[in-house]
Amino acid sequence: MIDIQNVTKVYTTKKKQTVAVDNVSLTIRDGEIFGIIGYSGAGKSTLLRCLNALERPTSGRILIDGIDVTALDAKELRQVRQKIGMIFQHFSLVSSKTVFKNITFALKAAKKPKPDIEKRVNELLDMVGLSDKRDAYPAQLSGGQKQRVGIARALANNPTVLLCDEATSALDPSTTKSILELLKKINRELGITIVFITHEMEVVKHICDRVAVMQNGKVIELGTVYELFTHP
Ligand code: ADP
Ligand code: ADP
Repeated sequence: MIDIQNVTKVYTTKKKQTVAVDNVSLTIRDGEIFGIIGYSGAGKSTLLRCLNALERPTSGRILIDGIDVTALDAKELRQVRQKIGMIFQHFSLVSSKTVFKNITFALKAAKKPKPDIEKRVNELLDMVGLSDKRDAYPAQLSGGQKQRVGIARALANNPTVLLCDEATSALDPSTTKSILELLKKINRELGITIVFITHEMEVVKHICDRVAVMQNGKVIELGTVYELFTHP
């Protein structure tokens, strides 16, 4: 379970202060697909970076499975981050490395023996439907295929949570649909909790169980897709 308690994040520069996240409290349940939707600048990415402890809230706490990720030292943080996978709008693959190496990179960081790595990467490629692209370089892949590699890499260390940052926003509608189907399958078969931030309403309607709508750093609405989008 992810318990976000009164989280506020203020960015201070010489010229001004920006309240990017303003006193947000949310509980994301195990196994759900939770959407955070809002226009650009609403505070979605900042909140996601706080979940992954890439950013520390100015105030408030975030508990992931009971562990307060806002109060960990570097070593504890590395352990918690292994439970969290992340995928990105522009995939963030290393262009000089093959698909295989892009994925093992994540596993190596976890210091696994070599045969285990081979086996795990093959399993992951099978799961995302890219077994035949093992030795390809990112430039040889379509956008959808790149995101599949991103997903395989994110799953490498068996995370309990997958954070998705505009993960389909660079893809065309039909590719978006196939990536969303893959994420649904991962959620269903592996029981991984998914947090999906996006500005695309259709995406949220397609895969999310519950949705928070953010505006100016605040959650202005929260409910199931049915509650938010079907009543008048
Ligand atoms: P979203 O993901 O919904 O587009 P962001 O979380 O990126 O929103 O941004 C929320 C607000 O915080 C915006 O006003 C943005 O300009 C500001 N912001 C985001 N990151 C930083 C930063 N590193 N330094 C200063 N301001 C930032
Ligand atoms: P998408 O809509 O998923 O981005 P593309 O139109 O980019 O798809 O690609 C369609 C197909 O062409 C894909 O199946 C992919 O394998 C292939 N393809 C795309 N770019 C390349 C490339 N640079 N080299 C080889 N095959 C490619």
